[in-house]
Amino acid sequence: MRSAMNIEPDGIPMNATHPETQGYDLDVLAVMAHPDDAELLCGATLAKCADRGLRTGVIDLTRGEAGTRGTPELRAQEAAAAAEVLGLRARRNAGLPDAQLVNNPAARRRVAELIRELRPRVVITHWTQGRHPDHRVAAELTRDACFLAGLRGLDAEGTAFRPFAVVHATAFREDAGPPSFVVDVTDWVDRKAEALACYGSQLEGITALGEVRSGGGRPLGDQIRSWMAAYGSLIRVAYGEPFRSEETLALDSPAALTVPTF
Ligand SMILES: [Zn+2]
Repeated sequence: MRSAMNIEPDGIPMNATHPETQGYDLDVLAVMAHPDDAELLCGATLAKCADRGLRTGVIDLTRGEAGTRGTPELRAQEAAAAAEVLGLRARRNAGLPDAQLVNNPAARRRVAELIRELRPRVVITHWTQGRHPDHRVAAELTRDACFLAGLRGLDAEGTAFRPFAVVHATAFREDAGPPSFVVDVTDWVDRKAEALACYGSQLEGITALGEVRSGGGRPLGDQIRSWMAAYGSLIRVAYGEPFRSEETLALDSPAALTVPTF
């Protein structure tokens, strides 16, 4: 296993620059509503992080049992195969009800317990609006659970723990506004496609999926790449994945800017 301490910073929080990371067991954790959401929204970023020695994971909040294609058992197998492709250290399923996701005390407790178990530094979740109601609820539920996990008095299993930051993956959302940052995933688009291909039950012969609306008759894979190319162009690279942070991003100095004006 490669050590994160020897890796050049590349816009991703590195263990070497964050001493407090000592208390974290994962560097990046995606918490998403359905199996395949993490791959669709930030799969290339997760693959890049893993290749750079960062410890990554995914929590799928539901088993996708309300989907019209496949079965929960098949989707679990597909999620495990995709986890292998992405190099995840951990993938958990919270077992919350698909298409009926609610942000209530029981759901918050369940997610907080998984957060306490996995101890992530940065959590990625959905944008605050979604085509699927579960996506909108997942964004709020995840943020609330991350906060509550840090309360010693919470009626939940595990030791109190709170992630350092929560960010939103805004890919394919027209209402999210300009991203706070875009991760250059030019060398990881094929891995994202490979991870998505694990979900064969969901993908055959379709032109739209989840937040990805159709581009006429363009195949789903081409449609995804088209969006990623547009996000990449925002930072003058071939392919990118976009994120929104509610916090202001810090630079060491203006000299550290990397995206040209002209
Ligand atoms: Zn979904």
